[in-house]
Amino acid sequence: MVGSPVLAQGNAPKEHQQALSYSDLLRKIEASEVNKVEIDPVRNVALVQLKGKPRDTAPLEVPLFLGDRNPELVALARTKNVELSVQPSTDGSAVTGFILNGLLIFVLIMALLMFLRRSGGSSGQAMSFGKSRARFQMEAKTGIMFDDVAGIEEAKEELQEVVTFLKKPERFTAVGAKIPKGVLLVGPPGTGKTLLARAIAGEAGVPFFSISGSEFVEMFVGVGASRVRDLFKKAKENAPCIIFIDEIDAVGRQRGAGIGGGNDEREQTLNQLLTEMDGFEGNTGIIIIAATNRPDVLDSALLRPGRFDRQVMVDLPTYKGRLGILEVHARNKKLEPEVSMEAIARRTPGFSGAELANMLNEAAILTARRRKDAISGLEIDDAIDRVTIGLTLTPLLDSKKKRLIAYHEIGHALLMTLLPHTNPLDKVTIIPRSGGIGGFAKPLLSGEDMRIDSRSEILDRITVSLGGRAAEEEVFGHDEVTDGAAGDVRSVASIARQMVTIYGMSDLGPIALESGGGEVFLGRDLMNQSSECSEEMATKIDRQIREIVFRCHAEARRLIKENRPLVDRLAEVLLDQETIEGDQFRQLVAEYADLPEKQELAAHNV
Ligand code: ADP
Ligand code: MG
Ligand code: ZN
Repeated sequence: MVGSPVLAQGNAPKEHQQALSYSDLLRKIEASEVNKVEIDPVRNVALVQLKGKPRDTAPLEVPLFLGDRNPELVALARTKNVELSVQPSTDGSAVTGFILNGLLIFVLIMALLMFLRRSGGSSGQAMSFGKSRARFQMEAKTGIMFDDVAGIEEAKEELQEVVTFLKKPERFTAVGAKIPKGVLLVGPPGTGKTLLARAIAGEAGVPFFSISGSEFVEMFVGVGASRVRDLFKKAKENAPCIIFIDEIDAVGRQRGAGIGGGNDEREQTLNQLLTEMDGFEGNTGIIIIAATNRPDVLDSALLRPGRFDRQVMVDLPTYKGRLGILEVHARNKKLEPEVSMEAIARRTPGFSGAELANMLNEAAILTARRRKDAISGLEIDDAIDRVTIGLTLTPLLDSKKKRLIAYHEIGHALLMTLLPHTNPLDKVTIIPRSGGIGGFAKPLLSGEDMRIDSRSEILDRITVSLGGRAAEEEVFGHDEVTDGAAGDVRSVASIARQMVTIYGMSDLGPIALESGGGEVFLGRDLMNQSSECSEEMATKIDRQIREIVFRCHAEARRLIKENRPLVDRLAEVLLDQETIEGDQFRQLVAEYADLPEKQELAAHNV
């Protein structure tokens, strides 16, 4: 009964004579019949005391429209000198209102907390940093065996010993040998380091604890360290077992190497790790395996005897290794009998185990999508392109852009075919790929694992890379060249620099002017940077690089210019077909009757 005006006016008058409507009230005030008005904003009524009635008679209730903000009433009461007050009632409805409000605020706060927890792991962790939730995984049985790991035979052989340590420690302790505590697996991503660690646990039949180095490094100082403690505690309870620390470089970087001082949290975590490793005897049956692709940045304290004193290289697989890995992953796939694993292994130098596995899986997906029964060579081809270059996108509509890309790719493809020291063309296409690739011209990979390139091969490679831009310039003019060649230009610059400073292939002589390969490790290298050569030498190097690039560029321009009709013809075919396979391309080049000496060159490459 919270004074709805209708109720008060319609039904009330008969039974409650004292009821009054709002306009009645205004009229009564006007006529100076009112003594006192009390406004109750909670129930939204005015309690009115009329003049001439005894003080103790119950006041009349008048429903209001806007709670305590009734400007007319207030103004009128003031002019007529009526006593006016605001008096919220403390009846049941007010209490409910209060509880409801409280509940609403509570819900809002909870929602805010939930939101904070959800938005980004870091704020979630911020709430529970004291507790240090366990962030490592434990697998009682990995189910992976050495048979599932192929192509890294040396590493497997070395780690076979670790399996024996875990299975038959007596054999070693009996003769007084100390079982090693830590093994560091070093190798590029995707070569099977994680897989190998799990295989060791699987072979030895022990639990596998794993954590990634990046999970140690947290927002608050001390969290990483307490995680390390938790991990070792759990591991000791479950010995014999394996602790696997992935990406150990995330915690194990050289201390004090960061710019502007070290990262306290990381250092504490690393210190804790070192302490824990020292803290258990070699024969407790816990073996720690760590993986990294950056052993050069690791703190030397980690590599000391008694810690990660064994290092095992896990390299990219060779031809035989790739064959082995392909066979492992083809086990559960249906392949056409004509698909030759040897041919695939030969065509995929530089692929890691993970890339090979991924490629075979892509081929299987394509096969299913094409509703075929078994994977054929076609799907393998497409899957290799997909893994190396990207997903195919829908072809561009005819446009100037498409013509430009066609000429650009023909530039690469033609030089690949004309120049004597190149791998022959596999295919050229202008079907765009994910990652902003408009098209590509791809050489056939030679299946050799050890690549030794001669000076003329490297120069031809630079010329081929510049062929795309050269064709754009020749056909569309200097002002129309596009930024699509940025990748080409960058790779050219880096090859040319390596020729001069690392391979010693310039007029400066066979002097290594830069230590090759080392990426700048932020901090260490920037801080103790000793310039490796004088400023004068740096100028000479730049001049040599420029000379190489300019000479190759001129050569590319010349070849495109001299073969302009052929370039136009090839671009036309490419625009029409969107892809030209190597054989057809060479055929087209050879058909070009005007160019007898080029035919000979082309024949040389076939
Ligand atoms: P890493 O830890 O070295 O980055 P992973 O062990 O995580 O590489 O490899 C990822 C996946 O790639 C594996 O799960 C496996 O399917 C496949 N793979 C990688 N290397 C091999 C190998 N040598 N033999 C079989 N499969 C491999
Ligand atoms: Mg891994
Ligand atoms: Zn290009």
